[in-house]
Amino acid sequence: FNAIAVLTSGGDSPGMNPAVRGVVRAALNNGIQVYGVQRGYSGLLAGDLRVMTSASVRNIVQRGGTILKSDRCEEFKQKEVRKRAIEVLKSNGIDALVVIGGDGSLTGAHLLAEESDLAIIGLPGTIDNDIFGTEDTIGFDTAVNTALDAIDKIRDTASSHERHFLVEVMGRNSGFLATHVGIAAGAEMVIVPEYEVHIEQLGQQLSESRRTGKGSSGIIVVAEGQEPGLTYRLAQQLKQLGEEPRVCILGHIQRGGRPSGHDRVLASSLGAMSVNYLLAGYSDIMVGIADGAIVDVPLDSVIRYRKGLDPKLFELALLLHK
Ligand code: ADP
Repeated sequence: FNAIAVLTSGGDSPGMNPAVRGVVRAALNNGIQVYGVQRGYSGLLAGDLRVMTSASVRNIVQRGGTILKSDRCEEFKQKEVRKRAIEVLKSNGIDALVVIGGDGSLTGAHLLAEESDLAIIGLPGTIDNDIFGTEDTIGFDTAVNTALDAIDKIRDTASSHERHFLVEVMGRNSGFLATHVGIAAGAEMVIVPEYEVHIEQLGQQLSESRRTGKGSSGIIVVAEGQEPGLTYRLAQQLKQLGEEPRVCILGHIQRGGRPSGHDRVLASSLGAMSVNYLLAGYSDIMVGIADGAIVDVPLDSVIRYRKGLDPKLFELALLLHK
């Protein structure tokens, strides 16, 4: 390779920095020049590229966010616009690109691979863990732990005031984050987009545990899902059933913070491995994790299929509080 470029795109996630560092250091170790693209696909279109040195990625392994900045770029969905991006890369002598981001960013990456002779590799960077073909994503572990820190604090207030709390976590259309957080927080209930909510049942369960003295306070973890204001609506419905739960929306705090040790190792490994895959002649793939090992998955299938929530894990979340 003459030179490769790396960018971060879409919603940021803790661990994007060690992933960038992994790509940069692995490329330099192999004598390949690396460019860092600023602000995802928007910066690519604007030609905002910087030569990365080993020093550019010094002291970032522990930092949340992304030093390359991230952005959403609606116009990238147009073929003519992507053609301009391909020209920017070629005119800078770049023949490969590593894209770190979620589902949307990987869709853009796949189209770039289809529409050019550039080598393109995607890395799963999202707190949602909703990407097909990989059992883990960069930032998921940190986000689970951030939500747990918050819930442990909320539990103190829930317990002092004998209240139930509905705690909304992120996750887009997927219940992965909520299910993991629910199990690890010992939540009374987990509500996810993949399964129907039985609000009367939940109301009964809460009143029952209050009556029997099992618990007058508890945590119900709600995945944000697609409906804005879902958690407030559920709280309203529970109110009509005689409960008075409080609502706490964790929001963007889940996307920030120092990446956990797990995410730093995952991001560093995937970042460095993306360069190995490029050197071995691969393109149009995502580098991810299956059965604990690093694997390559065609980007085409990554974006075509939806990753399903493991029903056994969800059942476990519901069973353990009984
Ligand atoms: P994430 O990568 O976290 O899923 P988005 O879904 O917002 O975040 O996507 C990030 C960016 O990826 C978008 O702003 C756009 O530039 C690009 N992208 C998303 N969907 C497509 C698509 N269908 N075709 C081309 N590019 C896309």
